[in-house]
Amino acid sequence: MDEAVGGEEYLFKIVVIGDSAVGKSNLLSRFARDEFDLHSKATIGVEFQTQVMDIDGKEIKAQVWDTAGQERFRAVTSAYYRGAVGALIVYDITRRSTFDSVKRWLDELNTHCDTTTARMLVGNKRDLENIRDVSVDEGKRLAEEEGLFFIETSALDSTNVKEAFQIVIREVYNNVRRKVL
Ligand code: GDP
Ligand code: MG
Repeated sequence: MDEAVGGEEYLFKIVVIGDSAVGKSNLLSRFARDEFDLHSKATIGVEFQTQVMDIDGKEIKAQVWDTAGQERFRAVTSAYYRGAVGALIVYDITRRSTFDSVKRWLDELNTHCDTTTARMLVGNKRDLENIRDVSVDEGKRLAEEEGLFFIETSALDSTNVKEAFQIVIREVYNNVRRKVL
């Protein structure tokens, strides 16, 4: 197929990381296919989905990678991170241990990716307000300390899922443009 006249191709690799069962796979399937699975299983092996988005009239392909269960064995490979220009670091607002792990995930990200990688801290499962274990303020504070964007999402009821990915992808796009211009 012919390339669009004057068109550049943008393909951004985005990784989703965080402890097991925080909702990474469901965030991705909600974003890419608008699907949610109550009984999703952690299958082993790296997977990604490509989603085409429009940002300022430019066609952006976001290739979003899912750990697909590798994280259960603390064995996310360097290949997973290679070339990532954006990252969503996800915790579960109902499980403090997953919030406490965020720093470890950031350390891992920093060993594989440079500081220009756009980062979003994502507190997922906000539909479970009645059993919340991490406050919104704590999430915000950590994000500020670590220089991350912050959002709370629900893959179950779709709240803020598109927004979470869009903000990261827009930031990547801005990074690319700043370097180009
Ligand atoms: P992963 O291991 O991080 O990929 O997590 P999964 O996407 O497999 O989700 C783990 C479990 O949490 C599954 O039982 C999901 O149905 C559930 N889950 C994921 N996102 C949400 C959410 O936003 N709200 C609620 N209530 N449950 C969720
Ligand atoms: Mg998963």
